[in-house]
Amino acid sequence: MYFKDIIGQEEIKERLIESARNEVVPHAQLFCETGGGGAFPLALAYARYLNCTNRGETDACGHCPSCLKFNLFAHPDLHFVFPIVAKKEKKKEVCDDYLAEWRSFLNDRVYFNLDNWLEYLDAGNSQPLIYSKESDEIARKLSFRIYEADYRILLIWLPEKFHSTCANKLLKIIEEPPQHTVILLISEQPDLILGTIQSRSQRINVRPIAEEVMQAAMIERYGLSPDDALHVAHLSGGNYLKAMEAISLGEEKEYFLKLFKSMMRNSWARNVKGMKATADELASLGRERQKNFLAYCQHLIRENFVYRFQAPELNYMNAGEVGFSVKFSPFVNERNIVELMEELAKAELHITQNVNAKMVFFDLSLQLTVLIKK
Ligand SMILES: [Zn+2]
Repeated sequence: MYFKDIIGQEEIKERLIESARNEVVPHAQLFCETGGGGAFPLALAYARYLNCTNRGETDACGHCPSCLKFNLFAHPDLHFVFPIVAKKEKKKEVCDDYLAEWRSFLNDRVYFNLDNWLEYLDAGNSQPLIYSKESDEIARKLSFRIYEADYRILLIWLPEKFHSTCANKLLKIIEEPPQHTVILLISEQPDLILGTIQSRSQRINVRPIAEEVMQAAMIERYGLSPDDALHVAHLSGGNYLKAMEAISLGEEKEYFLKLFKSMMRNSWARNVKGMKATADELASLGRERQKNFLAYCQHLIRENFVYRFQAPELNYMNAGEVGFSVKFSPFVNERNIVELMEELAKAELHITQNVNAKMVFFDLSLQLTVLIKK
């Protein structure tokens, strides 16, 4: 991770870069955020910059020996601490036992939260922790001499997950840190961290990403139109992960609209082959998505019924949906709206009851051929 990978947060980047260049590096720094603001990638980019032997004005070089090791998250003087779900039977009890997973997790993303990590670990509902055994590991690692770097980095993600005995031992390390050791803590719930750790660390508040900065990023990275980008930025509240969620929901909606259109067109044209193909496609989605699709159809039917009243304030459709409604709305009227909704609700119920999905969707299309011409 580099500074350039992080959206906005220019003020913090400048401050961190200056600290490295002036060699005024506080030995304990606490990055705080509410989520999706970029605190973890900022801390890691800072760690990289501190040890880069060929620093640029605004970022690390990417090809010095130190950067090459950072590329793999495998620098001998870079130590990670993060919450895990211990598996005693597999002798996986400290962070290093999860290092391979952690590195490939980091390799795939810049922004993430604890849920993403737990999902990646397939941890189920187990409570993640930084276990007391970890503090012995930390003490052991810090007792060695530094291998090669200017700064040995201990990067602790979510110190609020420390087991209490571990937190106390960490406090001792922060009070008397070994030379050239920088401890970077990244927290989403700083209030849960020992007050003494907080007060001995320099605090860096990573604020939510500003709306116009997020909007620009959405345009640049995902090619959204300025209006859509602003909408996503607004929904995200400055949290990059939420913005990603909003975009992927958008994609799903578009896909559902496409399926809805073909289902309706096939039923209108009594195209049995087409009906079967669409039913097969729908059957290949998971059950959750099938239910979401049917809920989406009910939403669209309602919107098309309302569309005929020409009262835009009552309509909740995006541009693509409205485009389709211009032609489709006349087919939803007082004579069929109730039955249309009932058929869709019935299909949803059958999917929930695990009835064969191909049959459910094909049967639904047949019903629609009659209803749509009422
Ligand atoms: Zn470098």
